Amino acid sequence: MLKGKTALVTGSTSGIGLGIAKALAEQGANIVLNGFGDVDGPRAAIAALGVKVAYHGADMSKPAEIADMMKYAAAEFGQVDILVNNAGIQHVARIEDFPVEKWDAIIAINLSSAFHATRLALPAMQAADNGKGWGRIINLASVHGLVGSAEKSAYVAAKHGLVGLTKVTALENATSGVTCNAICPGWVLTPLVQKQVDARAAENGIGNEAAKQQLLGEKEPSMQFTTPEELGALAVFFCSPAGANIRGVAWNMDGGWTAQ
Ligand code: NAD
Repeated sequence: MLKGKTALVTGSTSGIGLGIAKALAEQGANIVLNGFGDVDGPRAAIAALGVKVAYHGADMSKPAEIADMMKYAAAEFGQVDILVNNAGIQHVARIEDFPVEKWDAIIAINLSSAFHATRLALPAMQAADNGKGWGRIINLASVHGLVGSAEKSAYVAAKHGLVGLTKVTALENATSGVTCNAICPGWVLTPLVQKQVDARAAENGIGNEAAKQQLLGEKEPSMQFTTPEELGALAVFFCSPAGANIRGVAWNMDGGWTAQ
């Protein structure tokens, strides 16, 4: 379905980003990976799906590096048709104890990076399909783009901001083939959440399994983690012809978290 298209997924060396990159590659899209840590493993996993894969190591807190990545993607594959703004970090502390540099980093990586990548991706998307436009921008927000949780001030502020940015991007392109939507997962068991499981296990003197059950029990009625594969399937749906008029939604996949 996506053969000949190019998808750039930020923060795709791990977790949800990698899951979405794989799902888009399974549909034939060429992939530009980004993120820190092991690159060879994710690159090989995508290449094994028979598509072209490139990598740029931009630090998403740095606008100049984001600009360089967007130029690189266009030079490698012609243009970016699908942009998945996924890179994100977390820090947990009460507001009065929240390190200022962590606030700045979370706002930069979880929110401002999406603005920068989007503003740089839009002109080519708007010009595609003989000026009618074709593009898909998918912002990885969170249930925390819809509701708050204590000790996550920067994250909740950034994710609410990202849902707002999603709506404005969708509206400004509403008469074109460029859509923008947000995905709002509940708990997904990635390294970002495993850190919170570990902290809870240490704090309460309980095991890994008990800490996971506690985490789910507080927020997620299904008592199940959402998976990167499920999120990948939703991203594919947004990119499908059936997604052509889905504009500006914040689509939660959260086991009932926000239904309560
Ligand atoms: P993860 O830690 O597994 O992956 C994060 C990715 O972002 C990694 O590839 C990492 O290298 C990259 N990254 C971090 N800082 C970066 C930077 N400065 N520049 C470039 N890349 C950077 O986390 P995840 O759980 O897969 O999270 C992905 C997204 O999904 C985040 O935006 C997160 O807020 C969101 N999310 C996660 C959950 C969850 O429960 N895990 C729930 C809702 C939303």
